Amino acid sequence: MRIILLGPPGAGKGTQAERIVARHEIIQLSTGDMLRAAVKAGTEVGQKAKAIMESGGLVSDDIVIGIVSERIEEPDCKNGFILDGFPRTVAQAEALDKLLDEKDMSLDAVVELVVDEGALMARMENRVKETLAAGGQVRKDDNPETFRQRLEAYTAQTAPLSSFYAKTGRLKQIDGMQGIDEVTADIERVLSDSVSA
Ligand code: ADP
Repeated sequence: MRIILLGPPGAGKGTQAERIVARHEIIQLSTGDMLRAAVKAGTEVGQKAKAIMESGGLVSDDIVIGIVSERIEEPDCKNGFILDGFPRTVAQAEALDKLLDEKDMSLDAVVELVVDEGALMARMENRVKETLAAGGQVRKDDNPETFRQRLEAYTAQTAPLSSFYAKTGRLKQIDGMQGIDEVTADIERVLSDSVSA
């Protein structure tokens, strides 16, 4: 099963992706996690991405497309994967279609978590508080100023993906303002419809 999870920062993609992974024995590919790992390891990609990520902007399409293209060929992707944080621009979505086509792979579903923008800042602040309380490390881009930039990048560059996928009949929208379990249940419903379709 191959799935894309769409939604703004703070929509709950990471939480839901973890649950889908556990249930369907596929793996989660988060370009944010991959880029953070590259920054930490100080690779060439990491050096290019660091400042952009800290400002809340988007890393160049070439870089992320390159990372994803290599990653989905790894043996652990054989059973399928859930893409979280990719694609983030229409150019990335077009590149992904091309990549999958070349590799003879197809997408089973594009799931968008639809949330009320006003709730997102509060969710991020809550995530920071919980992480600190648990003694964890807070992401450098989880602060009000950078978060605002990330939301702006989302609205300008990523939100258009909804119509990109809707046009080809691939988009499934879910109410992301429900409780975590209700959102999971809705996603599972959509996935079983898509796979049996
Ligand atoms: P969130 O979904 O919470 O906004 P992510 O962990 O997905 O955060 O991404 C963090 C940062 O990594 C983004 O703000 C951006 O700078 C960079 N990034 C992640 N994925 C992509 C992508 N597909 N294209 C461009 N930049 C990306």
